Amino acid sequence: AKHAGRDRVIIFDQAMESLLDEYQKLEDDLRSSVDEDLIDISFQPILSTDGTTLESLEVLGRWFHPKLGLISPERFIPIAENARLIRRYTLSVLKKSCMVAKMEFGVFPDLRLSVNISVQEMLETHFLDDLHAILLETDFPPHLLNLEVTESLLAKNESELSQVMQDCCKLGIKFHIDDFGTGYSSLARLHALPIDALKIDKAFVKRIDQGGETLIKAVIEMAHGLNMKVVCEGVETLEQAQCIAQLGGDYIQGYFYAKPMATSELSMWLFAFTH
Ligand code: C2E
Ligand code: CA
Ligand code: CA
Ligand code: CA
Repeated sequence: AKHAGRDRVIIFDQAMESLLDEYQKLEDDLRSSVDEDLIDISFQPILSTDGTTLESLEVLGRWFHPKLGLISPERFIPIAENARLIRRYTLSVLKKSCMVAKMEFGVFPDLRLSVNISVQEMLETHFLDDLHAILLETDFPPHLLNLEVTESLLAKNESELSQVMQDCCKLGIKFHIDDFGTGYSSLARLHALPIDALKIDKAFVKRIDQGGETLIKAVIEMAHGLNMKVVCEGVETLEQAQCIAQLGGDYIQGYFYAKPMATSELSMWLFAFTH
């Protein structure tokens, strides 16, 4: 019994070590996948609440690990952020999606893209220059681009952030605040920044099923008061869609209308949608 404590520490150490090894291995694999440009993208349509018009396609990263299979972006994005790979990753996703939009979906000239931007990269130097260079290179019109940034961004350095956002806006780029409702943001900040839409997290949409639509209702009223649109994500059922329509929500994203799709599948979806 005297040694039990020490044994436990040793077992704990070993467990920690193998976890760290595993993490390190995953980080190395991610680095080479980013370097070799092996990370794929899928697209998920965002539609008007009545399902008749397309607002944009959200671009979602897809990493097929040679041994572990599909790894969720919820897992690999934080690793990319920690390993300082996120900037290269984002630029490659942006370039890929602009090229696909131009080359595969070129028959739909007004097609918008929504690209996820990690909070930490928004304030890095050259963020806008890099972004602009890709838009020029791929000949993708900046006014057809939405950038999705999470609510935690609003807590960052006020003047610097506001400057970057204003510069993006001058190019015609729009901002959507992702996972709205999961963090804390002051009304004043929301009002001071050039934000086009708030995206309500799917956790809140789920609550509709238990009659908990108070938060969605409040966000829609506030957003409209500030001249912003509202996107509800994770909408899976007709009941949820009807509730959002009744509350005046502008756009819907979710399995109810469309799942994330690979390029070829999306081509067919777009064709069916427009015919
Ligand atoms: P998010 O931006 O909130 O994206 C929406 C997530 O909800 C996506 O998961 C999407 O597949 C999923 N989803 C869509 N409709 C439904 C639905 O009806 N029901 C349910 N249960 N889920 C639905 P995904 O693709 O696994 O992405 C997870 C998160 O990873 C994203 O959440 C985003 O925060 C992050 N992410 C994905 N791609 C990128 C990227 O290229 N860059 C950055 N920075 N983050 C990314
Ligand atoms: Ca998003
Ligand atoms: Ca979201
Ligand atoms: Ca979310």
